[in-house]
Amino acid sequence: MEKKRNVYLDYSATTPVKEEVLQEMLPYFTEKFGNPSSLYTVGQESKNAIAQARERLAALIGAESREIFFTSSGTEADNWAVIETAMAKRANGAKHVITSKIEHHALLHSAEYLGKEGFDVTYLSVDGDGFIDLDELESSIRHDTALISIMYANNEIGTIEPVAKIAEIAKKRNVVFHTDAVQALGNVHIDVKELGVDLLSISAHKIYGPKGIGALYIRRGVALPPHMHGGAQENNKRAGTENLTGIVGFGKAAELARENLVTHIERVTELRNYFLDHVKERISDIRINGSLESRLPGNINITFKYIEGEALLLLLDMEGIAVSTGSACSSASLTPSHVLEAIGVPVEQIHGSIRFTIGDFTTREDIDYTLDALEKAVAKLRSISSMSKESGW
Ligand SMILES: *Cc1c(COP(=O)(O)O)cnc(C)c1O
Repeated sequence: MEKKRNVYLDYSATTPVKEEVLQEMLPYFTEKFGNPSSLYTVGQESKNAIAQARERLAALIGAESREIFFTSSGTEADNWAVIETAMAKRANGAKHVITSKIEHHALLHSAEYLGKEGFDVTYLSVDGDGFIDLDELESSIRHDTALISIMYANNEIGTIEPVAKIAEIAKKRNVVFHTDAVQALGNVHIDVKELGVDLLSISAHKIYGPKGIGALYIRRGVALPPHMHGGAQENNKRAGTENLTGIVGFGKAAELARENLVTHIERVTELRNYFLDHVKERISDIRINGSLESRLPGNINITFKYIEGEALLLLLDMEGIAVSTGSACSSASLTPSHVLEAIGVPVEQIHGSIRFTIGDFTTREDIDYTLDALEKAVAKLRSISSMSKESGW
C-alpha cells in the first residue's frame, strides 16, 4: 500500500493562498498599515497599493480600473448587483427579474429576497448539460424586467453558459445583465468589453488569493446605487475602510492568474481528462454530470450509482483526500443539490454524487492515488449497499 498522502480536490470551494500573494500582502499588516483615506505618506502608500490592485484586476477581465469596486466577497458583489439594480428600477415600474435554477445560493437567495419584496422572479430551467435555453430567456423578458442574472460558470458541474449571447439579448431588449463569474475567473479568458456584460462578480479566494475579499465590475454608464453608506471609499459606491491586505492579495492573485492563464488551463484540463478517462475505465455504473464541451478546466462531477456520496466522501477523507458532495454551502444539509436536480439527475442518484475539483497544486500522483482509493471505496460501499441494481436503485 502506498503511503497516505494529503490530496486536496476541492479547489472550487476555496484555494490556498499562493506564496507570492502572501509575501505581497505581509507588509500591509505591519509597516504599511496606513488608512488609504489619510493624507500623509503612509496613507497615500496604501491608497497607491489599492490603485495598483484595481489595475491588475481590470487587466485580468479587460475592464477599466475605475469600473472595479471592491467588496467583502463574491456573495456581497452578487447581493449588491442584483438587489440594488432591482430596487432602483422599481421606481420606474420594474417588478420582474430573470435568473436560472442553477445559480449559487448567493444569487438564488438574493432573488428569493426580491420575491418577498414583491418582484416576480423567473427561474430559467436548464438542459441535461446545464445550459439555459436562449429562446426561453428571450421570451421570458417582459416590459417590466429589471435585470437578468445568469452565472458564467457553474460551481457544481462546471458548465460554462453562453454569456456573450445572453448579453446580446439583454442589450437588444435594454435589460441590465449581471453575471456571477466567481468560478470562471482565472479559469476562462474573460473580457467584459467583448462579452458586453453590465455587472460581473468575482472573488479572490477561488483564484489563490485570500478569503473575505471580492469585487464587482460595474460597466461605466451603469447606474448602480451604493448598498453600504458611510465614507467616500470606492468612489462613493461602497463605504467602509478598505480591506487593504485583502485587496493587495487579490491584486497579486489576479496578476498571477493573468500570467498563468494559458498554462493553467492546459495543465488542469489535461489532469481532468486523465482522471475522467481512468475513472470510466475502472469504475462501472457512473454518470459524468455537466457539459463535456463547455466546461471549467478543473471540474469533475460524478454520480456513483447505488451508493451514498457522504459515505464515499468520508472514506476518501480517511485516505487524506478532500472532495465535495455539492457546493460547500449545501454540503452540511441533506437537501439534494438543486443543480443536479435541475439537470435531471434522479434524486437517489443525486445523493451518490461527488465533485472533484483540480487546481494548480494537483499532481498526476495525486490523481493516481485518488483513483486507487476511489475504486476501493466504491467497491466496498457497493458490496454492503442495500441500494442495488436489483432493488431498482
Ligand atoms: C464561491 C462562490 C460564490 C461566493 O463567493 P464568496 O467570496 O465565497 O462569498 C459565489 N458564486 C459562486 C459561483 C461561487 O463559486
